[in-house]
Amino acid sequence: MSPLTAPPEFRHTYARTLPSLAMSWKADVSTDPRLVVANSELAFKLGIKPEWLRSSEALALFSGREQVADAERYALAYAGHQFGSYSPRLGDGRALLVGEFIDQHGSRWDLHLKGSGRTPFARGGDGKATLGPMLREYLIGEAMAALGIPTTRALAVITTGDLALREQPLPGAILVRVAASHLRVGTFQYAAALGDLNDLRALADYSIDRHYPDIAISDGRYLSLLQAVIDRQARLIAEWMLVGFIHGVMNTDNVTISGETIDYGPCAFMDSFDPLTVFSSIDEGGRYAFGRQPAVAQWNLTRFAETLLPLIADNPEDAIAPVTELLETFPETVSRYWHDGMACRLGLSTHVDGDDVLANDLMQLHQEQRLDLISTMRSLSDHLRGDDIDLGGWTTRWESRLQLENATTDELVQRLDAVNPIYVPRNHLVEEALAQAVAGDLDPFMRLLERVTHPYQRVEGADRFAEPGDPAPGYRTYCGT
Ligand code: AMP
Ligand code: MG
Repeated sequence: MSPLTAPPEFRHTYARTLPSLAMSWKADVSTDPRLVVANSELAFKLGIKPEWLRSSEALALFSGREQVADAERYALAYAGHQFGSYSPRLGDGRALLVGEFIDQHGSRWDLHLKGSGRTPFARGGDGKATLGPMLREYLIGEAMAALGIPTTRALAVITTGDLALREQPLPGAILVRVAASHLRVGTFQYAAALGDLNDLRALADYSIDRHYPDIAISDGRYLSLLQAVIDRQARLIAEWMLVGFIHGVMNTDNVTISGETIDYGPCAFMDSFDPLTVFSSIDEGGRYAFGRQPAVAQWNLTRFAETLLPLIADNPEDAIAPVTELLETFPETVSRYWHDGMACRLGLSTHVDGDDVLANDLMQLHQEQRLDLISTMRSLSDHLRGDDIDLGGWTTRWESRLQLENATTDELVQRLDAVNPIYVPRNHLVEEALAQAVAGDLDPFMRLLERVTHPYQRVEGADRFAEPGDPAPGYRTYCGT
């Protein structure tokens, strides 16, 4: 392991390899930049000195005030289906890639600024981001990471000292984001629309090099890429479903090739189990409702597959049959990952017939009784410690299944507590913490962050962080982005 660096050394393999997909651009210079929150733990993990992250040099870099005159920054091009309708040109309208850096283990990461000013992709937008939504992205991303769910993460949030006009003027902010890459399904859609097969092939090869290096150089490599992305996305969606997470804006430009969750807008954890739950106020048709996420992901992957057809076979028609066959495996793959995850959360280390039915029946109970998934799953270990839980005959069936596990009650309790979280960023807590942060008091935000980044570890006096919010019917998040 090499020593920590400050700052990271930035490179631009993406812009160099794919110049038609990246536009050189400069960040706006913030009027009065201030660090709001810095992720020392992530910095350390990535081989960046935490002291540097809090330095004036870092702040200058994040706020467009850096001294390095010839530092190149790029706005990335992508297209996307938003709520089902296609936009040929979206791209980083208010974001810039600072560069890629290599961590101490040799992994490559993107460092990206969101809220850094208008770019040629801004369309009607002002290029700004505001403090509440950027803190939301920070918080939810860190909670997801702590739950072991693949996600982009935030290294810092700063305020710019400038105002952004929303319904009212709000403090402008920048999220400093780290991602395995910013390659999206929408990137492939954009490259495919350029009409030059060489660009598209270069993008696919770059994606394989960066995320799926085990795929061999062979005729079948682009079909293998599709298969690999399908698999990662299936695992990701299953992980979301296991914790009641609703992404809210599963547009094709918000689907990564790496399989990380990206772009936390009006997302939420469900407080009361109902597959029809929609959290985003802009999702009027319920397109991205909780229970629709596997189907929508498959739809998005179908858009991805379409872009790959001419790479998979000289005559794209010939690619349709093998591609369709792969896409059709998606629901089954999500289900397999979900059942594996559920078995683990039920304390089952082996598989026997009937386990899937046991898990399905528990979800049926959740749906019928509108249970809170997080607290119900956590209560299973309490039950083994002697507490009553009201899941009817299901509990008896589960307990007799546990007999086959060859484990003591203590062991089972430990297993369950290690995988069933107590604290997730519940919407009412998030809203409350963000409102206070925007009003100038960051303490509630930091307290919530502390809980959700240690989701399995019960803390005395923190019960209120474990409780679901009031399940008012039709509740929506009206959080701006
Ligand atoms: P998002 O909802 O963050 O996934 O963004 C969707 C698209 O809108 C992306 O192309 C963004 O760059 C763009 N966008 C969102 N907000 C703004 C803004 N305030 N200014 C410019 N572009 C924006
Ligand atoms: Mg987006």
